[in-house]
Amino acid sequence: MKTTCPYCGVGCGVEVTGQDAVIGGDRQHPANGGRLCVKGAALGETLSYDDRLLWPQLHGERVSMASALDHVAGELQRIIKQHGPQAVAFYGSGQLLTEDYYTANKLMKGFIGAANIDTNSRLCMASAVVGYKRALGADAVPCCYEDIEQADLVILAGANMAWAHPVAWQRLMQARRERPQMQLVVIDPRRTASCDTADMHLALKPGTDGALFAGLLNWLAQQGGIDAGMLPHLSNVESTLAGCAVWDSATVAAACQLPESAVIAFWQLFATVPRVLTMWCMGINQSQTGSDNNNAILNVHLLSGKIGRPGCGPFSLTGQPNAMGGREVGGLANQLAAHMGFSAEEIDRLGRFWHSDRVARQPGLMAVPLFEAIARGEVKAVWIMGTNPAVSMPEGNRVTQALANCELVVVSEVSARSDTAALAHVLLPAQAWGEKSGTVTNSERRISRQRSFVAPAGEAKPDWWLLAEVARRLGFGAAFAWQHPSEIFAEHAALSGFENNGTRAFDISALAGITREQYDQLMPVQWPITAATPDGVARLFADRRFFHADGKARLLPPAMPVTTLTDACYSLLMNTGRIRDQWHTMTRTGNVVRLMQHYDEPFVALHPQDADARGLHQGDIARVQSASGWWCGRVTLDDGLRRGEIFVPMHWTQQFSAQARVDSLVAARCCPVSGQPALKQTAVRIQPL
Ligand code: SF4
Repeated sequence: MKTTCPYCGVGCGVEVTGQDAVIGGDRQHPANGGRLCVKGAALGETLSYDDRLLWPQLHGERVSMASALDHVAGELQRIIKQHGPQAVAFYGSGQLLTEDYYTANKLMKGFIGAANIDTNSRLCMASAVVGYKRALGADAVPCCYEDIEQADLVILAGANMAWAHPVAWQRLMQARRERPQMQLVVIDPRRTASCDTADMHLALKPGTDGALFAGLLNWLAQQGGIDAGMLPHLSNVESTLAGCAVWDSATVAAACQLPESAVIAFWQLFATVPRVLTMWCMGINQSQTGSDNNNAILNVHLLSGKIGRPGCGPFSLTGQPNAMGGREVGGLANQLAAHMGFSAEEIDRLGRFWHSDRVARQPGLMAVPLFEAIARGEVKAVWIMGTNPAVSMPEGNRVTQALANCELVVVSEVSARSDTAALAHVLLPAQAWGEKSGTVTNSERRISRQRSFVAPAGEAKPDWWLLAEVARRLGFGAAFAWQHPSEIFAEHAALSGFENNGTRAFDISALAGITREQYDQLMPVQWPITAATPDGVARLFADRRFFHADGKARLLPPAMPVTTLTDACYSLLMNTGRIRDQWHTMTRTGNVVRLMQHYDEPFVALHPQDADARGLHQGDIARVQSASGWWCGRVTLDDGLRRGEIFVPMHWTQQFSAQARVDSLVAARCCPVSGQPALKQTAVRIQPL
């Protein structure tokens, strides 16, 4: 049985064999060619029913599934009747399958009539979505993983790929062994595992990535690095270059706190090698300038023509297995399904396709404002699916308090003991990986099947089924009458091609008539999948035609560096991120003994001199305090950190320690365009506990 790993956006193919469900890598899957990282290899150890939510619960008591669903529908109906559709919301997850995501979006945006459905992808990829849409006219990742093998230079910006996307990293290391001339530059304030073999590590000041790339754009213009053939396909060139003119090497070096010679060496390398692949992740996205950071990267690839060719391009790494699939079905509050927005024409088109006159007419609340609206009592009901916002949202304590005061909290979940599940009035057992069936889309636009190979635990149901049952109880049954996920996928595919005419990048219309048997056999394939490209497309924009109305790509003025956040009271800057062997809030990987051996408790890494100055030593327990809360964990000394900066992993939750939720420290400051929280930059102080 072939399926797909449920963790990161690499989207590795997994092969499950035998009665004992032995897990191995799928050699035929293009993303991984048989490789798995330690988390993927341990998937078989996560299939036990320990901590599983097995039965529906209402106010902590086991009830029948019908009673639980009746209660959810009845309460939603009551609240909508009393307060209108804006008083209810869904909060989803990049863990959901595309079919689940599609159903949730259709119900909320198409029939309840509000767009209050946001997801944890807001914390992950929202800035990349803005960047692509502004530059390319569509949320369309241009590249594919084969570009890793074909690049002359790979730039990792704000991404510890060695730990967070390990199989893509293995591909990169293999490519470098085979072509030692391939260069690797890592741009990251921390010296991470990804720096171990790098040719250059630019340990820049946090929040200055935009300046580094604005300077590069300026350098390209001055040093003959512009691809003249691109100019007819670009707009905003002169104004963007004028905006970047201030970013000469000395100014950039000062802003980024890097040696000027290193800055120039990096720019020169970018300008001179023919094939450059820039891969980035949360260090770029989770910033107050996240959207502008993305455009700063896109600018240099567009102006130099390093896009749409093998080994070239701007390539965002998605954190989650199906953040991309969620984007395709409208899994963000500011977009509709099939990459449509909220223009009158698009609302009308969606209404005709769904046969609904209730389609939401304006964007809904993004994640941070959504939980703020819950706290104010404006949103009175929320259905949270497959995610743990009490831990993962900034100011997690306020999120917890908001949920504690909310009239109706429904949580559909796999785990019975997540911090968020503890706040639910209604718990609905959802099927887990291995039980559920559907599709996911990885970072390179590749749609792959997740297939079920074990019986569901207890009364666990697919998320799409739970949503469709509530839709039926709300009186919308005819629009949600699917019997199988293949029917949802077929509808999703049909919508992607509905009145598309090549104006929307996301188009999988060749799969609109897919049968259940064909769906069962579906091989991994990269969209667009159309009559003209039935086998998918590896790279976009080879023809230099972009998705803005004029067919051109747009350059955008550069991001300004983030202003200093630290002060006399909170003098350190805290960075958060992943460790190698854990996934998100550890509801799955935290149960696997061997995955706990890498790091078995929450820790705070800081420079030895910063530790010294505060009387802290290796192994001490330290208290980290921000304006939002406090946290404690074990001190680990790390001279790969810049002075004045600390690193804390994001994974641990209250179930491990009362003060382990690091995002409780993070202020809810967001990129004003994407709404993505700046989870990478929080001013804190630290002291012995
Ligand atoms: Fe799973 Fe990502 Fe590891 Fe691949 S690299 S096995 S998708 S966690």
